[in-house]
Amino acid sequence: MSKETRQFATETKQILDLMVNSLYSHREIFLRELISNASDALDKLRFEEINHKDWAVEDKHIRLSTDRESKTLTIHDNGIGMNRDEVIQNIGTIAYSGTKAFLKNSEKIKERPELIGQFGVGFYAVFMVADKVTLHTQRAGDAVGIIWESTGDGNYSIEEASRPQGAGTSITLHLKDMSQEDDPQDFLEEWTLRSVVKKYSDFIEYPIKMLVTREVPEFDKDGKPVEDKTKKESSDEVFNSQKAIWLRDPKDITQDEYKDFYKHVTNDWNAPLETIHYKAEGTQEFNALLYIPESVPFDYNQRDMKYGPSLYVKRVFISDNCEDLVPQYLRFVKGVVDSNDLPLNVSRELIQKDRQINLIRKALVSKILRQFKTMLTKEKDTYLKLWKVFGSTLKEGIAMDFSNKDALVELSLFKTSEREELMTLKEYVEKMPASQKDIYYMTGESLDIMKTSPYLEKLKEKNYEVILFTDSVDEWVLNSLTEYGDKKLVSITKGDLDLGTEEEKKEKEKELESKVERLKPLCESMKKALEEYIKEVKVSDRLVKSPVCLVSGEHDPSAHMERMLEKLGQAAPKTKRTLEINPNHPIFAKMEGFSEEKILNWSEILYNQALLNEGSQIKDPVKFSNQLSELMVNA
Ligand code: ADP
Repeated sequence: MSKETRQFATETKQILDLMVNSLYSHREIFLRELISNASDALDKLRFEEINHKDWAVEDKHIRLSTDRESKTLTIHDNGIGMNRDEVIQNIGTIAYSGTKAFLKNSEKIKERPELIGQFGVGFYAVFMVADKVTLHTQRAGDAVGIIWESTGDGNYSIEEASRPQGAGTSITLHLKDMSQEDDPQDFLEEWTLRSVVKKYSDFIEYPIKMLVTREVPEFDKDGKPVEDKTKKESSDEVFNSQKAIWLRDPKDITQDEYKDFYKHVTNDWNAPLETIHYKAEGTQEFNALLYIPESVPFDYNQRDMKYGPSLYVKRVFISDNCEDLVPQYLRFVKGVVDSNDLPLNVSRELIQKDRQINLIRKALVSKILRQFKTMLTKEKDTYLKLWKVFGSTLKEGIAMDFSNKDALVELSLFKTSEREELMTLKEYVEKMPASQKDIYYMTGESLDIMKTSPYLEKLKEKNYEVILFTDSVDEWVLNSLTEYGDKKLVSITKGDLDLGTEEEKKEKEKELESKVERLKPLCESMKKALEEYIKEVKVSDRLVKSPVCLVSGEHDPSAHMERMLEKLGQAAPKTKRTLEINPNHPIFAKMEGFSEEKILNWSEILYNQALLNEGSQIKDPVKFSNQLSELMVNA
């Protein structure tokens, strides 16, 4: 096939432009990206060899070579290689969701180019250092190779070309002249390359080699060095130590090594918040090196987000993002799992049904949750950070994973009406006054609105703390979290609120009886006025200062839930609620003598007030404010 020139996709062009013109610091990371791709390509080949014995190569390696004259640096690998379509797909276009995120974050990336790898556009980092890149590749099993070439402007060329070395990829960078820069790095210099490899790629499993030429002393026939006489000698040197870090004894691993490996697996430039290094023995033997990131990855919670550690079998890479190794609610856990028991030819499709994978997953979840427990008791500050970033994800487990529900409940932290700091349910129960029977909670979008809510009035009076739930998953989690130990979780915005003992309850009813009787006609008129919106008007003792509030039926969705559904465009017909009135509020004594028309007017105002107090929107704000103005005029 003849040479063809093609255009980069628009976003790719924009990314290239950024690489070429705006990124100046940390340029050396291009090498990390290329080595990481080469290592992936070798992993892929090793996996394919299981079914294609004739593709097997013994001496898997990555090689660096330089040429001073042509000012080129070449990175070779004898990995899986790419065919024409794959080159166009993988190098010519960036079909990843990362592209948009990359462009959105471009200002940040200009300051910290080391973040590039996170966005799956690592290859393009070559244009930070090169003004022309030639990629020569051949896919294992193919008879002919492909040359791809670009100067980083809008186009690239692609043509067939034989590759004497067979399968693999060589990427040749025609280095830019950077000698005028403040702190120039010479990527033709062996020492520079060696230190960059050491820094970023030391644990890469395959040898990263370079043919190094040195001046060595000459020796006479007795083995003594001859003064002032040297000769040149070339030999292959391996720059990296190649240690599969997850198989090593944790005692021998430094924090820096753990961090470097974290960067390798996640492309996250920050240090991990927590490292979990675990060797499982017994029914399932495996090694796991897992990490909890410090902050939310850019693609977190996107619909197509892939998660899960990479799976290896006896050091052979099988799959990255193995979603069957951890449940969804641990989707923030990154790292590597290496099994000793799985068959090497475990196919990616079958992983899901594999019984042994399930056993590994069980063991992993239990180990991770145990480590969280230790963090909560021994490194509270670190755990608080974890909770702030990933707590709402972890909580999903309460609803999703029955067998670990109890452990997850113990790990959950809550905000309450009375204090700033987060607490566990255990702590909440320990702090409950002796008279308090149940655990009280409320759901809503805003802590500030909830903290001043009328629903809290009575509970505050009794010194009862109320747990405030603000995460969007909470309503769903609460369906599964109905009790803790022997205590029920009770919503203070639903059903009857029964705060005291049986005796107190009876006394309360007696006290209310006369008020209920007296206000009955008013309640009926109000109900008639608001029939369209509410189920009932009821005299209650839920409130202390406020005149009214809206209460959902015990098994009905809360107002917060309805607001959330509405936002998602899934609003169901609203369930009518009960308007509870505070009989001690002077408004009602006033209203008793009113005409039906005036009752209608005031009921509407009260109803809208109740909506505003709970953080809901009112239907006709203009009418509401006109009604208020009129009241003021008549006052
Ligand atoms: P990422 O590695 O994050 O996917 P890159 O831009 O670095 O993004 O690479 C894009 C893709 O090109 C890789 O996913 C891989 O499929 C392919 N690729 C890059 N380098 C090589 C290589 N040396 N051998 C085989 N395939 C490669």
